[in-house]
Amino acid sequence: ETISVGELAKRMGIKATDLIKSLMKMGMMVTINHALDFDTAVILASEYGYEVENVAVDLDEIHESAPDAPETLIKRPPVVTIMGHVDHGKTSLLDAIREANVIAGEAGGITQHIGAYDVELDGRKITFLDTPGHEAFTAMRARGAKVTDIVILVVAADDGVMPQTREAINHSKAAGVPIIVAINKIDKPDARAERVKQELMEFGLVASEWGGDATMVEVSAKKRLNLEELLEMILLQADVMELKANPDKLAKGTIVEAKLDRGRGPVATVLVQEGTLKTGDFCVVGIHSGRVRAMQNDRGEKVLEAGPSRPVEVIGLSGVPDAGDVFVSLKDEKQAKEIATLRQIKQREAELAKHSKITLEDLYKQIQSGEVKDLNVIVKGDVQGSVEAVGESLRKLSTDAVRLNVIHSGVGAITETDVNLAAASNTIIIGFSVRPEVKAQLMAEKEGVDIRLYSIIYDAVEDVKKAMEGLLAPTL
Ligand code: GDP
Repeated sequence: ETISVGELAKRMGIKATDLIKSLMKMGMMVTINHALDFDTAVILASEYGYEVENVAVDLDEIHESAPDAPETLIKRPPVVTIMGHVDHGKTSLLDAIREANVIAGEAGGITQHIGAYDVELDGRKITFLDTPGHEAFTAMRARGAKVTDIVILVVAADDGVMPQTREAINHSKAAGVPIIVAINKIDKPDARAERVKQELMEFGLVASEWGGDATMVEVSAKKRLNLEELLEMILLQADVMELKANPDKLAKGTIVEAKLDRGRGPVATVLVQEGTLKTGDFCVVGIHSGRVRAMQNDRGEKVLEAGPSRPVEVIGLSGVPDAGDVFVSLKDEKQAKEIATLRQIKQREAELAKHSKITLEDLYKQIQSGEVKDLNVIVKGDVQGSVEAVGESLRKLSTDAVRLNVIHSGVGAITETDVNLAAASNTIIIGFSVRPEVKAQLMAEKEGVDIRLYSIIYDAVEDVKKAMEGLLAPTL
């Protein structure tokens, strides 16, 4: 995919001649009709202050971010997460609810773990996220994803409130998610449901039969007791919350689970939150893009469409996203790819910012802190004579504290190979009367490699010397 110089200039609101000049600086002699590849366009755009960020944020605009008109909203199923202390029966409850429902409902399906499933009661659906525990819940919240409408807090009647019960309550409250308490294991002889209710009062959870407003259901996952009642209470709570969404637009959702499947490639479970996801849709998920090749539900059945609150397993993504990543459908494949590419570049930049690469600017700091004892340099120049002269002068700058090594030198433009070498060995590249090739420039930006260009030997040597002494004026 390409864009012409003229078109890019137009989109950036600058003169094509200015853009052509910038390209010349990068070593590209082009005309207004020259087709630029995407990476080059990104570099140019960023030189003119078109931040990667802006484009990513614009995703919302692209994606009809205007609030949905009330008449477009229809009721959607509640999304439920089960939390509670270890061994209190979260997994058993999830399994029991699912099995009871499968037997009652469409028999014959082979249930599969896709990270979420839905059940039906009186023709109404409820979606369960089936990664129990608050780790998943918190992880998603940390990424800004609000997925859960209602928390089912499982408390074993024979054990009572335990540390993770408390944590679950705190997490739910912090997220502003209402709690329904499932007092589990009431089949056990030593079950003491009343004591559990008593203990929960301390957290402001007062059972309705005790005059409070907390819904508590006594269940047994093992004996399948009162499961339907629990589901009824969930639906009741959902009614109170008036959960609604607009199904008639491009889908937006959150990744619940994802993995790399040997045969199918990246596989991700999307919980659709708005709009309707359809087979064939283009999409962006975190740093990945793709086209929904096929979808299936937790019964392994092929699905062509998934509306709000529906979990579906999707194949066709370019990579494996993280749980909590936002999934967005787009009309345009090109747009999807561009956004994903920009996000990748941004992510790489962020990662690079983490490890400290050597730049001439912060060299002194790194010498002071003892991080740097060797300053590695690559020297490229227009003629052999100047390459040797620069290298020789630089070597002489070695001090007791820092040894200056010219690890590579040569005649010609700065290439990708040079940048690769520099990135791998924490090296500064000095170009003498030469420029980096476009690909090399791009790579240097991605990898955080410092390229310095000079046309006077004295300037090059002086800059490095000053940097070593902490006297280099910061470039603005
Ligand atoms: P989790 O750690 O919260 O997911 O708990 P599990 O679902 O793994 O259950 C822990 C143990 O409690 C298992 O041995 C279950 O068989 C048992 N268990 C779960 N629910 C019940 C129940 O309703 N009654 C009885 N008696 N045992 C249960």
